[in-house]
Amino acid sequence: MSCHPDEASNASAVVPNHNLWYEWFFFGLANETPQEPTMTTRRAECQCGQLSATCSGEPYRISVCHCLACKRKTGSAFGFGAWFRQSDVLTEGNATEFVRVGDDGGHVTNRFCPNCGATVLWSIDTLPGVVAVSAGGFADLAFPPPSVSVYHQSRRYPWVEIRAEPLEKRG
Ligand SMILES: [Zn+2]
Ligand SMILES: [Zn+2]
Repeated sequence: MSCHPDEASNASAVVPNHNLWYEWFFFGLANETPQEPTMTTRRAECQCGQLSATCSGEPYRISVCHCLACKRKTGSAFGFGAWFRQSDVLTEGNATEFVRVGDDGGHVTNRFCPNCGATVLWSIDTLPGVVAVSAGGFADLAFPPPSVSVYHQSRRYPWVEIRAEPLEKRG
């Protein structure tokens, strides 16, 4: 069981569809009502604000993780991550890296603020091209809910209830 919701076999799900833009472009031409594509941009920050991740578009997956490492990383009951393509995330500020070996053997690289200690991003070498952004860093109550709950049965505090629907419960 991995604490990261996507196995490498699913990585193709995040490869951009290069035809999409052209489809939009020609669809717009055909209807003579071309529109600018709207792109949501969100910014996650550390506590002091010097380290940030500006994310374009919607995350392709949002997950919570109840593993013990996520508890220790956050000091809280579970981790909360929004996964984006690396190319859709602009990181600004100074980050210190901490690397640990994940349950499935991959190397998890956490990037945190050396000033305030908050983790803003993490990635795993078995999932190239994607990055998780600490979803709490957006500090946005309207942020979309998770669709995956990892270590849901085995390591979730018994008083924690994740009410998002639909919710894939793993482990
Ligand atoms: Zn900071
Ligand atoms: Zn975890």
